[in-house]
This record gives sequence, C-alpha cells and structure tokens, in this order.
Amino acid sequence: MARVAFIGLGRMGQGMAGRYLDAGFTVSVWNRSKAKAEDLIARGARWATSPEDAAIDADAVVTMVADDNASREVWLTKDGAAANMKAGTLAIECSTVSHQHALHMAGVLGARGLIYIDCPVTGLPEAAATGKLTLLVGAEAADLDRAKPYLAPIGNVVRHFGAVGSGTVFKLINNLMGAVQIASLAEGIAMAERAGLDMNLVAEALATGAVASPQVIRHSKRMVARDFSGASFTAALRHKDADYAVQLAESLLPESPLVGRAAVEAYARAKAEMPDDDEGRMIEIVSRPK
Ligand code: NAP
Repeated sequence: MARVAFIGLGRMGQGMAGRYLDAGFTVSVWNRSKAKAEDLIARGARWATSPEDAAIDADAVVTMVADDNASREVWLTKDGAAANMKAGTLAIECSTVSHQHALHMAGVLGARGLIYIDCPVTGLPEAAATGKLTLLVGAEAADLDRAKPYLAPIGNVVRHFGAVGSGTVFKLINNLMGAVQIASLAEGIAMAERAGLDMNLVAEALATGAVASPQVIRHSKRMVARDFSGASFTAALRHKDADYAVQLAESLLPESPLVGRAAVEAYARAKAEMPDDDEGRMIEIVSRPK
C-alpha cells in the first residue's frame, strides 16, 4: 500500500491526514506538538519522531503548516523531511506559502531529485475532514499525473494553473480578495450600526444582495451577532496570506495603487490583538470607538 507522510496537524491537517487513513494508505504523521496526533495514532497512523523520520520511506510527503517559516522548518532543517527522502519522491506543499518561497522550495528540493508541487487549498476544516477541498496546483503535467493518487483522498476539485508556483499565485489572489471583502464588510456593518439601522435587516440584505459573495454570506450574520464560535480561519493566517499576496502584487503591478494594502494593515491590527481568533472579529476592531 502506498505510504504517505503527513506533516502539520492543525485545524486543516488533522482532517486531511485522516482522509489518507480512511483511504487505506499507510500513514506516518508528525506535528510540532504531539497532542494533535493522538486521534490519528489511535486510528492507525505511525507517530514519527521528526519530519525526517516521517518521510524516510514515504512515496509522498504532504505538508500543511502555517507559513513560510514553518514550511522551511519541516522541510529543510537538520531533521527536516527532505533530509533523507528518496530521489523521485513527491513533495506536496498544501500550506499557503509565499510565491517566492514556493519557487525557492521547488529549486532546493528539485536539486535533491525530489518532485515539489505547490498545492494550496480552498475550503474550511470541515471540507478538509471530508475530502472536499479544492486543490490549486502548480506542477508540470507529468508530475501532477504522478501526484493524482495522493491528491484524490483530500480534494474533489483539482485546478491546475501551470508550472510550480502558479497554484500559489492563484491562492494568494483568492485570499487577498477575501481579506479585502471581509475587512470591507466589517467596515460596512460598523457604519450601519453607528447609523442606527436595523441590523437584522442589514445582515439579510448584505447576504442576499449584489455584494453577497460567499465571504459576505458567511460573515455578515456572525459579525452582526458577534458570534465567532467554531473559529476556522484565524486573524493571523488571514494577515499572513494578505501580506504574501501584497508582496506578489507589488512585483506584478508596481505601477498600480493596491487596495490590498489596506486589508493587510487591518489584519495586522487583528493579528496583534487576537492572532488565534476568528478572522471575523475584525468587526470588533473596526467598530471600537477611538
Ligand atoms: P493551524 O490550525 O493554526 O495549524 C498550523 C499548523 O502549523 C500546526 O500544525 C502547527 O503546529 C504548525 N506550525 C506552525 N508553526 C510551525 C513551525 N515553526 N514549525 C513546525 N510547525 C509549525 O492552521 P490551519 O488552519 O490548519 O492552516 C494550515 C495551513 O492551511 C495554513 O497555511 C493556512 O493558511 C492554510 N489554509 C487554512 C484554511 C482554514 O480554513 N483553516 C483553509 C485553507 C488553507 P502546532 O500544532 O505545534 O502549533
């Protein structure tokens, strides 16, 4: 049976790793803090003592960690996954990283004979646990073909944007637009509150009108009710994605004023105050009297 090493068992990674167990793969897991692996170990995963140990006999190594720094740590440090992987092994980066980092990793791991593909995802933890993520892939077509059996358990839609790095380009565009929408929604709701509008009516009108994107639909009622139970995407992660995206935007559109910078600034405040809380709590920052 094919062997997968899964590294990074946060909100997303726990569900994704479980999908490989459900699909009958032989799975080894590693996470910086072991407690998050207990359920997977009970279901049959092998606990590895390091990313290197997890990856040593794997046919594919899948990572789902927070950011560039975490990705560097799990792939490239002394006991990182890449230390002892066999040439030709798939290195599938599902974490949302910067474009520069994805290209750098492709170069470093490629030089060791490994096949790095960027495969950031869209979908919430619930989609991760049920194999319903959308996978945004950057890879040579032949590498994607080889990777497909390892992508099938975790995603039901694969969008192949082109060469390595292109999945990350799209993911960053997507998440920057999400950051702009959520920050702008918070500002709109705060304005409506100050103006004394009927907030049930405002929430309903926003979620069904011309600006009703999935982000607006998801967050409008929660923001009005200040109900952030079931946090799935944190302020720190939203800031990270927007920040990476604006760096990319500045390189692609140096002549253009960037709306995204305002969202990065807004999420820098949210990250400073409530890094591990739901991104929707942006409303509390925007609506607070000075
Ligand atoms: P999370 O719950 O905060 O988990 C983060 C993971 O990264 C944990 O396993 C954490 O280990 C690990 N980590 C952080 N810093 C590390 C370091 N320096 N060295 C090693 N491991 C480190 O985040 P998540 O929501 O699962 O998100 C994971 C990735 O998926 C992120 O890139 C995020 O942008 C992306 N994503 C998230 C969602 C979502 O809805 N949540 C949707 C799409 C994409 P510990 O457990 O030890 O802290």
